[in-house]
Amino acid sequence: MNSTHIRILMILLVVIVVSIQSGCSLTHRGNQDRSNIVSNENGSGKTSNLIENPVADTKDTPSQEGNQADSIDNLEDEKQSTENNLKGKDKIVEEDTTTEIEKKEEKVVEPQEDSSENKSTKQDQSKKENKNAIHVISQPEAITVLVNKQNKLPDNYAPNDLVYPNVRFIFSGNPAKKKMRQEAARALEEMFAGAKMDGILLAGASGYRSQATQKILYNSYVKRDGKAAADRYSAYPGHSEHQTGLAMDISGINGKCAAMDCFGDSPEAKWLAKHSHEYGFIVRYPKGKEHITGYQYEPWHMRYVGTEIATEIFENDFTLEEYFNIAIPVSGKE
Ligand SMILES: [Zn+2]
Repeated sequence: MNSTHIRILMILLVVIVVSIQSGCSLTHRGNQDRSNIVSNENGSGKTSNLIENPVADTKDTPSQEGNQADSIDNLEDEKQSTENNLKGKDKIVEEDTTTEIEKKEEKVVEPQEDSSENKSTKQDQSKKENKNAIHVISQPEAITVLVNKQNKLPDNYAPNDLVYPNVRFIFSGNPAKKKMRQEAARALEEMFAGAKMDGILLAGASGYRSQATQKILYNSYVKRDGKAAADRYSAYPGHSEHQTGLAMDISGINGKCAAMDCFGDSPEAKWLAKHSHEYGFIVRYPKGKEHITGYQYEPWHMRYVGTEIATEIFENDFTLEEYFNIAIPVSGKE
């Protein structure tokens, strides 16, 4: 073996080492990219994907991550569009989160750079199909009814047992927004009385709301804040819990911070968070659960579900969505 042989061997060795190293780092990067995609999606998960506002077509974070997430959505949409009926879609909702994320991981091939016309048309189509994937609630009068961005009340549904709860409100007169379903109204009266015994004075701010009223409100919010922002705090007409007569926005008796973020720090909000379940109410849109409920934290929006479910939700730190998807794993929704 002469020096030329040794040199050639050395060069070969270096080439091998370099190619192994670059191969490893590529693999690592690939995995990292994927786990980024998954963890980005993780928070919003399939639930948020499924409860995405039917009309909204907005993502909070555009950019490259957005593109990647879009491509996941697209894959998800394509998968969904093969499911022809709503029952099939409900089934997807009930599937285990981990499995869903794993499926996404499997389906993500590479970040998609090209956006040919063909592809975007396809995306639009499957988005449209997804938008149409709204479940119309079959038993809107059920006390446990689940109304959200994915589950819509029948058009212009109005409960037939609305009454005026005998409690204090932050406004006078007898507008319809004082009303609640009878069972919820009685529970509200008991809750206000219970709070009073603890030195907490509550007042109603907004109860029943017809679909027509919701439409006016929603449109005014969209005009004021834009659609993306409005969709985080205001329901699309037909999708509001206020239309069920089972929800009441509650404030302190001075009406300060009524339906505002600052209510969260008030003694009234703290009392409600701690005790409302004893009377059958839940804080329907808790902090940190926007990706599940579809709405930002609303410490004032109380929903009547009955003491049994309210207590289970309270003790497990659930949302109503989680209660139906986790606590009741098989059919039996609504
Ligand atoms: Zn509300």
